[in-house]
Amino acid sequence: MSDRPGGTRPGTLRVEPSLFEIGAPGRRGYGLPPLDVAQTGLEDLGPMDRGEVAGFPEASEVDVVRHFVRLSRLNYAVDLGLYPLGSCTMKYNPKINEEMARLDGLARIHPMQPPATIQGALRLMHELTGMLSEITGLPHITLQPAAGAHGEMTGIMMARAFLERHGDPRKVVLIPDSAHGTNPASAHICGYVVEEIPSNARGCIDTERLRRRMGPDVAALMLTNPNTLGIFESEIETICGIVHQKGGLVYCDGANMNALVGVARPGDMGVDILHLNLHKTFSTPHGGGGPGSGPVGVAAPLAPYLPVPAVVARDGGFDLDWDRPQSVGKVSSFLGNFGMHVRAYAYIRALGARGLRQVAERAVLNANYIRARLADTYHVAKDQPSMHEVIFDDSRQAPHGVRTLDIAKRLIDYGFHPPTIYFPLVVQGALMVEPTETESIQELDSFVEAMREIDREARETPDLVRTAPHHTPVGRLDEATAARRPRLRYRPES
Ligand SMILES: *Cc1c(COP(=O)(O)O)cnc(C)c1O
Repeated sequence: MSDRPGGTRPGTLRVEPSLFEIGAPGRRGYGLPPLDVAQTGLEDLGPMDRGEVAGFPEASEVDVVRHFVRLSRLNYAVDLGLYPLGSCTMKYNPKINEEMARLDGLARIHPMQPPATIQGALRLMHELTGMLSEITGLPHITLQPAAGAHGEMTGIMMARAFLERHGDPRKVVLIPDSAHGTNPASAHICGYVVEEIPSNARGCIDTERLRRRMGPDVAALMLTNPNTLGIFESEIETICGIVHQKGGLVYCDGANMNALVGVARPGDMGVDILHLNLHKTFSTPHGGGGPGSGPVGVAAPLAPYLPVPAVVARDGGFDLDWDRPQSVGKVSSFLGNFGMHVRAYAYIRALGARGLRQVAERAVLNANYIRARLADTYHVAKDQPSMHEVIFDDSRQAPHGVRTLDIAKRLIDYGFHPPTIYFPLVVQGALMVEPTETESIQELDSFVEAMREIDREARETPDLVRTAPHHTPVGRLDEATAARRPRLRYRPES
């Protein structure tokens, strides 16, 4: 079926044996001529010589190259095609970012070098904080946190330090029911009790409920804007007013900044603390567990609590400032994931203000295009204009016995990475599609066609969808067992 580049044609992918099952005794990846000089005696490694390793694979160069190339073809990647994993902003990462991060002067410095010898790196970090500050409307930025969730924790630590300093750290953090799971986890880890604020029919925060609940025991509201339903919280200024009036702080999860970058600034809306995901909005690599980067911006009253050391301009150069007595301390080893700072810096410099604005405009356009083209086939969860992502559900396919998981698995046969599924939890059977701005109309159209085709299959041949994927080396895994009891070691007899 799929002749898409990167698609899986039936039979082209198979289970790859392990290296232990490849090759044959005596096979070598190299050939050296026999020794034609006298032995020195140094060849005897003594106790360091472990001699033969029983069962060690012996393979030729071509065996090994083909093994790894075949393995790489079992992967799906942003460099192969659309990767519409909602909430994750899997945009294409320009290769120039990688080239910059690999420049010797940036890649080969040591994190413990004295500031005088890494002036360029410090300048880059200082300028990056300035640019992120301009983008978010928040005057102070730390680059230390290594992920979005880490930024949330750092942000809530600062909120606690600030409130403590003003007499009472308070007890509760309010979080909308559509939030990403890391939000309650971060608040909890910082010692707060989490309370849920329900969304209204539009999928936004119910401001009346918020007004009634907001009181002197509430430390902060943690909200995501645009929220995880892909909808802009248009009452954001009212919301900030309600929280501030009772002495609380507004934490904004800025993981969805791709919808706003260059267009609107959370700081201008009244937000006090915000984290960014450089590995989402600012096009640093994302996946495989990192490394990521989750800078945090704060309003002026929170500046004394930022992590140390701060990168500062001083005496015509740049330095690390450790002298911040109210700081929450260090939250990361060294200065954070510097390689990500370089990539984000290169990305922002390459695009400029106009380019960044186009990122948001096109990301929003692409999501709305997909919504418009699929709305007659898949039920749209909330009938609101989309920002950067759109959420469908399986309510039209379910009567045929085809559920969200089946649709996602079938998309793999069509050569697409599935969207995020069953999140946010407030939408039953959610299919969360975030195309990002880097996709062409042809790529979006192929995705739409695949989704329409799957809907047709759901009605005509539902078993085909229920048992997908069919073109991968393995079909449906038992997801619980695969996660809890993975087989990580090769055993010849099993
Ligand atoms: C991705 C994401 C996070 C967490 O970011 P990580 O870098 O994965 O820790 C938090 N909130 C939202 C809305 C997200 O999309």
